[in-house]
Order: sequence, then C-alpha cells, then structure tokens
Amino acid sequence: MASQEEIFKKLIAHCKEYGFVFPSSEIYDGLAAVYDYGQNGVELKNNIKSYWWGAMTMLHDNVAGIDSAIFMHPNTWKASGHVDAFNDPLIDNRDSKKRYRADVLIEEAMAKFDEKIAKEVDKASKRFGESFDRELYIKTNPRVVEYAQKRDALHERFASAMNNNNLEELKRIIIDYEVVCPISGTKNWTDVRQFNLMFSTEIGSVADGATKIYLRPETAQGIFVNFLNVQKTGRMKIPFGIAQIGKAFRNEIVARQFIFRMREFEQMEMQFFVRPGEEMQWFEYWKEFRMKWHKALGLGDHKYRFHDHDKLAHYANAATDIEFEMPFGFKEVEGIHSRTDFDLSQHEQHSGKNIKYFDPELNESYVPYVVETSIGVDRMFLSIMAASYEEQPLEGGDSRVVLHLPPILAPNKVAILPLLKKDGLPEKAKEVMHLLKFDFKTIYDEKDSIGKRYRRQDAIGTPFCITIDHQTLEDRTVTIRHRDTMEQSRVPIADLHGIIDQKVNPKSVFKKLM
Ligand code: ATP
Repeated sequence: MASQEEIFKKLIAHCKEYGFVFPSSEIYDGLAAVYDYGQNGVELKNNIKSYWWGAMTMLHDNVAGIDSAIFMHPNTWKASGHVDAFNDPLIDNRDSKKRYRADVLIEEAMAKFDEKIAKEVDKASKRFGESFDRELYIKTNPRVVEYAQKRDALHERFASAMNNNNLEELKRIIIDYEVVCPISGTKNWTDVRQFNLMFSTEIGSVADGATKIYLRPETAQGIFVNFLNVQKTGRMKIPFGIAQIGKAFRNEIVARQFIFRMREFEQMEMQFFVRPGEEMQWFEYWKEFRMKWHKALGLGDHKYRFHDHDKLAHYANAATDIEFEMPFGFKEVEGIHSRTDFDLSQHEQHSGKNIKYFDPELNESYVPYVVETSIGVDRMFLSIMAASYEEQPLEGGDSRVVLHLPPILAPNKVAILPLLKKDGLPEKAKEVMHLLKFDFKTIYDEKDSIGKRYRRQDAIGTPFCITIDHQTLEDRTVTIRHRDTMEQSRVPIADLHGIIDQKVNPKSVFKKLM
C-alpha cells in the first residue's frame, strides 16, 4: 500500500494534471507558497464558498455579508495588535540552512509521543482481541503512562514558553528534546527570533509622501471597522453577525505543504456580536454549528475533531480549532474564537470614534463581545480533495482514479457523452445538454471511447455521466451512470432533472444543518 506521503504527492500531481491547482507563474518556475486555481479548481472553490455563504447568511437571517477592501488604513493594524504581535518564532538549522517555526517543531515532538502511545495501544488491542479494555490499558500500562507523562511535561513547558513569549526557553526545549532538522539530521540550531508575518507596500506617489500600508493578514478587521455601518444601515439588533469572504496575505516562514500554508490565501470569516456575558453560549452555538457544517458533507465524521488552544491569542477568552485528518495528520482547518470586546475597543481607542451599541432592551450602550468563526477556503479545498481521492482497484485487474467529491461541491455535475460522433448523436446530446445547462454545470465530451470518457469524469469528480445512443433517438431515454457505484440505468430524458437535482442541490445539505 502507498504511504500517506506518496498519496499526498499523487494528489498534488492530480490537482495539476486535471486543472484544479497550478503553481503560480509556473513558466518562471513558480513562486513559493503561491498557487493558481484552474478550470476545475475554481468551480470547486466557488462551490465551497457558496456552501459557506449560504449556511451563514441564508440560514441565519441575523448574519449579513460584506466585501471590504484588502487595503486598510494603517492604524487598523496598530489597533488590532498585528503590527506589534503578529509574529511567529523562527529558528534556522545552520547545516541545512532551512528555516522552521520553533512552535511547530515542538508540536511535532509532542505528536511523536502520541504516535508512540497509539502504537502501543494498537499492538495490545491485537494481542488481547475482544477482551481488550482500551481505557484501562492507557491508564495502567507502564510504558504508555510514561509516554503520556513525558508528553504532558513537554506540553506544560511549551505552553508556558509561548504564553510568556520566552524565545530562549523555546530553543532550550528544542535542544532538551533533541529535535533534529529533518533535512540535515543535525541539532545545529540558531537562536529563536520573532518574525512579523505581514506584507507591506506603499500607497500614494513618492512626491506626495507615500504611506506604508499592509496587505491584510485576515479579513476580520474589515468587519470590525464596518460594525456600525452595517448595524445602523441594516438596522441590526444584537446578537447579529457579519460575514465576509476574501483574500488574506501572510509571509509564512515555512510553506511546504502545498495549499495548506500559502502566502496568499482566502478566508471565510464571520464575527458575531453579542451582549457581554453571553459570549460563551454563542461560542458553544457556533462551535456546534460549524462542526455540523463540515460533517454534513459526508466525508466521514471520524475525520474531524476539536482541538482547544493552549495559547490564547492576545484578544481571546476561549478558542478551539476544527481539525481535519489530512494526509500529514490532523490539522487546523477552522478556528472558532471568543474575542471579547478587544477589537472594537481597540478601534474605539485608536480612531477616537464611539463604537458602542445602544441596546434598546437593556436601555444601555456597550461595546459588544465577539465570537468569530474563521476558515480558510484553500485548506477546506485541500481537505475535500484529500478525503475524496481514491485509487480504486476494479474487477479484472483494472483500476481507476476517482474523486468522491460531495456532489454539491463537484466542479461539474453532469457529463454529456454521445456514444458516437455520428448518426445525429452529437446533435441529440447537445439537445439534452440544453435542457440541463440552465440548472447544472454540464460538460460535453465526444472524444475517445466511452470507457475513457468515464475515467476522465471520475478523475474530476463528476457525479453523473449521461450517454446518448441510438435508442435515445427512438424512445427519448438515456443511460445515466453514477460516479461512486459505477451503476448504470436507463431513464427517460424527462426524469434527468429530478435525479440530478436531488443529489447536487445544496438545499439537501442545508436542510441537515437546521
Ligand atoms: P496556523 O496555526 O496553521 O498558522 P492560524 O491559527 O494562524 O493557522 P488563523 O489566524 O486562525 O490561523 O486563520 C484562520 C484560518 O485561515 C485557518 O484556520 C486556516 O484555515 C486559514 N489560514 C491561515 N493561514 C493560512 C495560510 N497561510 N494558508 C492557507 N490558509 C490559512
């Protein structure tokens, strides 16, 4: 069986070969951690975005959308704390000259203890069979207990170092736990330094006196500065939310995991404004709703988990991540944060404007508290591709590559395939396409054998293939083939709309959320 690493490599190759993701400016050998989306990628991406947008703004009539600019007044980032504190601790290996995030190296060291525990438990479960008591074994087996103690000790040191911004201690941990560079295999580390992740540029011509501005590292601040605009013009009452989808930019130190960590990426963020004191109940609500949103896609509930933060960001009083099982382990796809009144208060202070909300029910004014949900479009894209990709052995020694994409997200919903390129079949096929194209993204293909054409559609995740043959001309029936089961059945053209709609209409998934 192929290793997870091999599968990940194949997935990256597949994304390129089938028009999902290309390296940016590839003819110039690419630009590190920047990617372009191709003809299929952009459709999948748009479908992810509209699934999110619909779930947030359509299913919640108290969530309104905006689209704010990427450039913002530079004081925004002073107020938000990004100029002073949006840093990652970096460390270099002197032998390989490779740069790493110190916190990530330590988290990986911690994960190694968990892997060791999992291995022991696995072995024991095989040995004991049915009678195996997992909980008891974890609590009592001396080796497992020792690994767990070591992990917890490391965890405690790490959390305290991060919370105190103690860079020397981070380095000491790396040395003490004998972390080696995966490239050179050595422990020849530099000191740990802070590195600000914001990109800057200049606005205005030099003669006017140019001003340094930043490319936004998150979309959230565009929401905060528009809080009162939306509240007043939309006559919104607390609790309410503002949602936005847009590009964000971070000068990431290490960017080696395809579209998992990019320097230019896209976020879908929502800030939910609540009465002070009610934030924890809304934090729980959004935690649960967001998890439901992920699981409703049907990629497998076991692939998701919550991970509570150890180091709360400077603004947060509660925070959790939704992690997804990527080919390289469980990784953050979305963050849910209770941000208190930090951002709005900061903007009030720095702008000198009153950003309070008058609550007619309480008859008082206050700065609302905020619960945020923040998800990366690209990471979501990667999680879906990773979970959908399968190299499937078929009967007779044959195999196929199939993307089991959730039908509501698939780039194309229906492929229209005339059996032959003659006898009036292409014309009939175009007629069928014309019937469907106003409701579904259709794709037409008449080249090569029907088997090859099915494979091509499997590889881009098209849920349905419709074949038009000579019988179609006589009785207005076609063959419909289902991607996952490869089952084929003969149906009247008049039934196609209903069969397809039932599977690909986002409504079916939206209904699971409410
Ligand atoms: P990480 O710890 O992985 O760097 P983060 O905690 O800094 O992520 P947030 O600031 O919470 O991430 O951003 C919210 C979401 O934006 C993340 O859950 C992720 O999906 C996405 N995101 C953040 N940074 C990147 C990036 N460099 N490339 C792609 N997506 C990103």
